[in-house]
Amino acid sequence: MCEGKIVSGLEIMVRYRCKVCGGTGIVRNPLWQEWDESIGREVPSGPEADWNGFEVRNKAWWSSRGCQKEPPEEVECEECSKGWVIRWVPISDVMRKAF
Ligand SMILES: [Zn+2]
Repeated sequence: MCEGKIVSGLEIMVRYRCKVCGGTGIVRNPLWQEWDESIGREVPSGPEADWNGFEVRNKAWWSSRGCQKEPPEEVECEECSKGWVIRWVPISDVMRKAF
């Protein structure tokens, strides 16, 4: 009867640590990543810095993305729930990886 054969078509629920957030459940807001690569490069420095001019451009940048103010830098990971991913996978896939 039971010869260790894997029945195809069965699925099993598996839970594993999320690779996107490293299991923390938190990722950097994608908007902030975009910010880093665009206006974030224009952050003034030095005693002559034009902070007012930068603030105006910064506000305009955020409002052009639908944000009235700067959103939180960290947001919940969309790939998982609190660092864990739960998926239904074919039991044959799980057995192949396990042995
Ligand atoms: Zn995650």
